[in-house]
Amino acid sequence: MNIRPVGDTVSERLPELSVLRRCWPEYADVGSTHQVEVAGVRFGGPRCVVVAGPCAVESRDQALGVGRAVCAAGGQLLRGGAYKPRTNPHSFQGLGLEGLKILSEVRQLTGLGIVTEVLDPRLVEQVAGYADMLQIGSRSMQNFPLLTEVGRTSVPVLLKRGWSATLEEWLCAAEYIAKEGNRNIVLCERGLRASGHWSYARSVLDLNVLEPLRRATPLPVIVDPSHCTGRWTLVAGLSRAAVAAGVDGLLIEVVESESARSQLRSDREQGVPPQVLAEIVGATRAAEATVGRRP
Ligand code: PEP
Ligand code: MN
Repeated sequence: MNIRPVGDTVSERLPELSVLRRCWPEYADVGSTHQVEVAGVRFGGPRCVVVAGPCAVESRDQALGVGRAVCAAGGQLLRGGAYKPRTNPHSFQGLGLEGLKILSEVRQLTGLGIVTEVLDPRLVEQVAGYADMLQIGSRSMQNFPLLTEVGRTSVPVLLKRGWSATLEEWLCAAEYIAKEGNRNIVLCERGLRASGHWSYARSVLDLNVLEPLRRATPLPVIVDPSHCTGRWTLVAGLSRAAVAAGVDGLLIEVVESESARSQLRSDREQGVPPQVLAEIVGATRAAEATVGRRP
């Protein structure tokens, strides 16, 4: 029986996509990855990149405190939202431009490059002026005007998978960006919404997708265990699983302390304490040294 690898059949169904390995001759080998450099840190290279930080920038003190903790724990890039996609319109929506200015100051003080979300096509220029990497959130994965607009910048893009998106839909979203000339795209699996009510986690992490994704495209792929679980106690275990599966990076939410956690206005339950982040970074480096980056 001849069973075709899924990544190869995706390529046959969507031959026009320029993000596919078969349309990218220098990455014909399934083991090769298109490296994406962000503020001196390389996704798709020999190291698994740890991006960490608060869910949202809530104040200068909070962002700087978490930024320093991320730096001390060995994180390589700082994440943090200035514009937040919130399900409830009455929830905290982020500090906006003020948040971007805080992130820029934290970058200066810690040396960490900044990954931050852009929600609105009209604000791409503004956010790109502060960000080292533009994040497209799960809810925005099929906001085609937004994808087109970030594709017109030269800023690297972190493209999160929509929580019900198929592999094909995710690759088509990447294509909207690449089509405009920006191929510096890193894909981020952040868990899929399962049917029924889940009392113990927000979503289900899809590690199944990694192998077909790698066959289909040379773009690097990272995993977000924070939004997937919604509970910080589950994040370290899932991070180890993702690293063992050969991901190119992790995206992790961090809180500075338990007293700081109680003050947060966004994703209070899922940020790991700095000590846990240090353990995750340690386990990631140990795995690189022993089992290598790919299964
Ligand atoms: C985030 O990373 O801040 C976020 C809102 O995640 P997602 O888009 O995956 O829900
Ligand atoms: Mn969050």
